Amino acid sequence: MGRDPRYDILFEPVQIGPVTAKNRFYQVPHCNGGGYRDPSAAAQMRRVKAEGGWGVIFTEQTEMHHSSEIAPYIELRLWDDEDVPILAKMAEAAHEQGALAGTELTYAGVNGPNLYSREIPLAPTAMPIRTYTSDPVSARAMTKKDIRDLRRWHRNACLRAKSADYDLICLYAAHGHGVFQHFLSTATNHRSDEYGGSLENRARLMREVIEECRDAVGDRCGITLRLSLIETIGELGFSNSEVRDLIEMHAELPDLWDLAHGTWADCSGPSRFKEEAAQQDLVEGIKKLTPKPVVGVGRFTSPDVMVKQVKSGILDFIGAARPSIADPFIPLKIDEGRIEDIRECIGCNICISGDMTMSISRCTQNPTFMEEWRKGWHPEEFDVKGESDSVLVVGAGPAGLEAARVLGERGYQVVLADARTEIGGRVTRERKLPGLSAWGRVADYREYQLSQMPNVDIYLDNELTAEDILDFGFEHAVLATGSSWRADGVSRYHVAALPNDGSLPVYTPDDLMDGRLPDGRVVIYDDDHYYMGGVLAELLAEAGREVTLLTPSAHVSAWTNNTLEQASIHARLLELGVEIRLNHALGRIEGGQPFGQCVFSGAELAHSADAVLMVASRVGNDALWRTLVAREHEWAERGIRSIKLIGDAEAPAPIAWATYAGHRYARELDGPDIGDALPFRREVTQLKND
Ligand code: ADP
Ligand code: SF4
Repeated sequence: MGRDPRYDILFEPVQIGPVTAKNRFYQVPHCNGGGYRDPSAAAQMRRVKAEGGWGVIFTEQTEMHHSSEIAPYIELRLWDDEDVPILAKMAEAAHEQGALAGTELTYAGVNGPNLYSREIPLAPTAMPIRTYTSDPVSARAMTKKDIRDLRRWHRNACLRAKSADYDLICLYAAHGHGVFQHFLSTATNHRSDEYGGSLENRARLMREVIEECRDAVGDRCGITLRLSLIETIGELGFSNSEVRDLIEMHAELPDLWDLAHGTWADCSGPSRFKEEAAQQDLVEGIKKLTPKPVVGVGRFTSPDVMVKQVKSGILDFIGAARPSIADPFIPLKIDEGRIEDIRECIGCNICISGDMTMSISRCTQNPTFMEEWRKGWHPEEFDVKGESDSVLVVGAGPAGLEAARVLGERGYQVVLADARTEIGGRVTRERKLPGLSAWGRVADYREYQLSQMPNVDIYLDNELTAEDILDFGFEHAVLATGSSWRADGVSRYHVAALPNDGSLPVYTPDDLMDGRLPDGRVVIYDDDHYYMGGVLAELLAEAGREVTLLTPSAHVSAWTNNTLEQASIHARLLELGVEIRLNHALGRIEGGQPFGQCVFSGAELAHSADAVLMVASRVGNDALWRTLVAREHEWAERGIRSIKLIGDAEAPAPIAWATYAGHRYARELDGPDIGDALPFRREVTQLKND
């Protein structure tokens, strides 16, 4: 099947200064938690995307000078010539597949605490450093000499990027993370010289640097500017109308305008709070202000929406970070007329958590992300099956579905069975909760893929017993039987069941997902700290319950800081009238009352409630597996070679861990036993001889 002519427009070449992108698919800069520590893993990830058809591939932000760095976060560096080979490897990876290679030069300014380089941070105006961790460090105001130095450093960085063979050099002025934005915004620029005051003055540095960069490398490289469309930090912030004035005043200055939303949390808004094409209102009309191409993002996964963005004159390029992570092959799939094979991003922001936790990124939908080099996993290619033939997968949640899909791709005879009448396990239950409908794509994508495989059979409404599994005669069985929420309050604060005299009804998230809602006044005890406590507070408040949320943490849904949604969750709960009590555990339930307990003083506070909802922790449903292990002596005589436990059943975790577990199981089946060897490749810092 070929490309639908409706989508031809997406495959038109577009010029960016001295270079031309082969199509309109533009992978904007995005972090990956690997950066300078895992350069080959990052380069291979970019190579796979280029192979998937993206016309433009950017690196993550690249710290262009050592006097502004954001340790402990792990991005790229271009501090001197020693960094060039790492950058060159990524450019080469993009070029080998016909994509333009871009890098985003970042001078973090007031956003860079310099914890590693120990240099004094420089900013337009002296002020405390603005970071997620509010580091107790201040920036000093740049002198005229500092500004001259900064211009020269940019020129040098451009020359290095050119020597690393980059086609596009982007200057970062978005998300509050780049010095040009700090100069442009009256919130961070209080200068009274020619670099402060009027918009023309505040834009001076940007203008000078772009002109000088063009002078240095403009013969070969396009110079682009990544700009926030609105600062969303209150009155003083850089507004959308000022952004439009800026673009009109400098219509031909950069070779392309790369427009991002406000803060990073706005721009990479999770699906819980932001729809596809969420920044359209802010971007609409800007193209008319400039002859230069415009790129914007919006978690675009639908080719019809993409075409509309181009045809209606909003964007020239379809910018994407997360959609290109979830499916690096979107362009090729559109080109080949395989729309239904697109693996759509669910907007969970687990990928971002890899950067925020300085570990390495993973993706819920695409378990091969950042494993392209480490494990040699390709998102679209699989080894043919090994010596065995048949596999029984028990449980059709994310782990079981992904295992069945990859086993199916490899050519095994697969039976997938689930006790429930619907496919999808936890995602089918959780997609019905407020704001989580897009998460259902985890099941939808896999259900369709499995429906196309003649070697995979699915049996729903089939609760399997150990006897069934031993009798069926499959060579391998993999149990992805999920997990259950516990009602006894055991999690981080209470490592044993909390004191409870049984005087109040206690519910778990499973009860609510099964449609059993508590009545009246509900105290939610959240010692899980990811999304579930906040989501269920929303559900109950919307259902008219009086809700109090108790958490031993200093934040509601604290871990969602890593998925950039914590502030939105807190605001949503306030809007809904949820009473929030931070730094309080649920100490005990007695005499019809839940007692909160201050985590610092131990002081108790009695609440009036009709029910308690425990969002504490989950336990793996591993009883079936334990029964089978107890009967291991029977396996061989029944032709069984292995029985494994994976996913939440093995150890409960976010959905991304489950798809990864299913993927890994299926990739490794019939593979060699590597014993104690490291199961992935890595790069180790090289020692210098002196
Ligand atoms: P994971 O996140 O690890 O994929 P889920 O909880 O989403 O786990 O899915 C587990 C699935 O396993 C559920 O749909 C559940 O109905 C199914 N399941 C659990 N035990 C059995 C069993 N004995 N036979 C068949 N299906 C089972
Ligand atoms: Fe999308 Fe989630 Fe994957 Fe990120 S982790 S690309 S948000 S599906």
